[in-house]
Amino acid sequence: MPVETNNNKPNKQPKNSQFGGTLLILLTFLLLLNFIVPSFLGMSQSQVPYSEFIAQVQDGKVEQALVGSDRIEYTIKTQTPEGETVEQEFTTTPVALDLDLPKILRENNVEFTAPPPSQNGWIGTLLSWIAPPLIFLGIWAFLINRQAGGPAALTVGKSKARIYSEGVTGVEFSDVAGVDEAKAELEEIVDFLRNAGKYTRLGAKIPKGVLLVGPPGTGKTMLAKAIAGEAGVPFFSISGSEFIELFVGVGASRVRDLFDQAKQQAPCIVFIDELDALGKSRGGAGPLMGGNDEREQTLNQLLSEMDGFDPNAGVIIIAATNRPEVIDPALRRPGRFDRQVVVDRPDKSGREAILNVHARNVKLANDVDLSVIAARTPGFAGADLANLVNEAALLAARQNSQAVFMADFNEAIERLVAGLEKRSRVLNELEKTTVAYHEVGHAIIGALMPGAGKVEKISVVPRGVGALGYTIQMPEEDRFLMIEDEIRGRIATLLGGRSAEEVVFGKVSTGAADDIQKATDLAERAITLYGMSEKLGPVAFEKIQQQFLEGYSNPRRAISPKVAEEIDREVKQTLDNAHHMALSILHHNRELLEETAQALLEKEILEGAKLREHLNQVQAPSELNEWLRTGKLSEDRPLMQSLLV
Ligand code: ADP
Ligand code: ZN
Repeated sequence: MPVETNNNKPNKQPKNSQFGGTLLILLTFLLLLNFIVPSFLGMSQSQVPYSEFIAQVQDGKVEQALVGSDRIEYTIKTQTPEGETVEQEFTTTPVALDLDLPKILRENNVEFTAPPPSQNGWIGTLLSWIAPPLIFLGIWAFLINRQAGGPAALTVGKSKARIYSEGVTGVEFSDVAGVDEAKAELEEIVDFLRNAGKYTRLGAKIPKGVLLVGPPGTGKTMLAKAIAGEAGVPFFSISGSEFIELFVGVGASRVRDLFDQAKQQAPCIVFIDELDALGKSRGGAGPLMGGNDEREQTLNQLLSEMDGFDPNAGVIIIAATNRPEVIDPALRRPGRFDRQVVVDRPDKSGREAILNVHARNVKLANDVDLSVIAARTPGFAGADLANLVNEAALLAARQNSQAVFMADFNEAIERLVAGLEKRSRVLNELEKTTVAYHEVGHAIIGALMPGAGKVEKISVVPRGVGALGYTIQMPEEDRFLMIEDEIRGRIATLLGGRSAEEVVFGKVSTGAADDIQKATDLAERAITLYGMSEKLGPVAFEKIQQQFLEGYSNPRRAISPKVAEEIDREVKQTLDNAHHMALSILHHNRELLEETAQALLEKEILEGAKLREHLNQVQAPSELNEWLRTGKLSEDRPLMQSLLV
């Protein structure tokens, strides 16, 4: 059952790139001014052609001229009819090549002189020197800002640590549910903060760092806030990725800044989210564009800050990560993050407790049983459950209900697991029939296999991004281990959809791609990680790197090509056998497959008692138990091709 976790946290970083933008506009304006000012100053005189100027000189009208290299200003005195003398100012643009000009001026007794340097005045000169570099700086800052998502260039070294006073966190331990072990360990920290004297009197050192480890959305941030809330101390928070900036040294100065602030407010909690972004083991992957350098400097600064302050200063650093395996070992040494608290996905009773917390503010109908919902949501983390309650409330509100009913929760679970219903996606008859047989194929195989729980619902209503139909299987209880036969059963169930298409139509469609992908992944893991292959034995061929994040593939160890070939063969054999078993079961239940698919086509959704009525009739072929036990099929089995009718 795929669980889609919704971890779209709101972007906490305020995008502060307006500053860069404003600067850019200002600079552009200054540059324009630089061009406008000189021509603007020259506007007061009237401009005449050069030839007219020469003519006026030769007519003896011009008495004085200011001759610049690109501009000549001169005055003409004329007599008005009333006998008054008026001075008129003119300008003209000289022809550069006219070397005769001084001679002409001298011959006509014109008093002429060159203008003082810098006609534009000091502002213009200054601007013409300063503006261009400033503009480049502005553009650069603007680009950097957009890249780094923060005002890196303009607030170099300034910490983005925000101070949350006690009133703001307001989170209590009772708000965080389902993680009782973690809470019990962290309650100690609250006591350290509240009654530091009790410990220091005896010479005990209060721990400086606690590392919270667990999958996303399990409440690590909430726990850190709850510690601050319970102890009534300020809460500082920053994310590891915020430390890493484009410029070497910025991260380190942020660390320094953060600790300076924190020490002033001690006792307090400093929370560092995503510690792995900062504390990745050094000497791992090669440096990429100098980014490694920056991280190393920041990490070193963090280490020296942690070593530097007095353990009893009352600053406790809580860091969170979902990738503990990549954390630099130096961070875990005594006196640093030497305490590790696991915050794992909640079990059934934990989920019920979390649902209770989030349902506090929701009006529930009488038919809602949170323990039933908890049972139906294995694998959900706290954040998923919070999301579920909200989704159910939204559904109820959309229907103008008086309260949130169980049906709303069921629909919300399906939404989170399989995506939104898409009745608008219309399938043609052949497609719909294919999907119906495919889903019934999953259901029939799933009904026989151990450990996977019962098939609850099959549907041919498209949902989510790619599912044209779906089968929902609900485990009866939380499982922490998968036994060999359950893995085989799971693989066969995954291949059941495609096998049904083969049995009924004699050909396959593209609809099984996702099933095949999952089946292959599982078969490969059984062999390379769980050591379930008889031939290869309990040898791990992969390095487990992701403990809490699913969907990341692990790198293979160094293995010989021969072993690699053997692994491939074993994976293929596992899949082939499971495929054979699925085909065999469907042949055995050919009539049931037909009836159920027809019923599904008619109703579109089969669930509950109606579905059980069908699936109770599934018969197991004789070879099933042997295969579940050993993974092998008897030698005299019919060839697979012969099963394709
Ligand atoms: P993490 O830091 O582990 O990724 P958060 O603490 O940010 O997870 O949790 C995100 C949200 O999910 C919280 O705001 C809360 O609403 C909900 N949540 C997660 N875990 C729990 C829990 N154990 N109890 C109650 N709510 C939880
Ligand atoms: Zn399928």
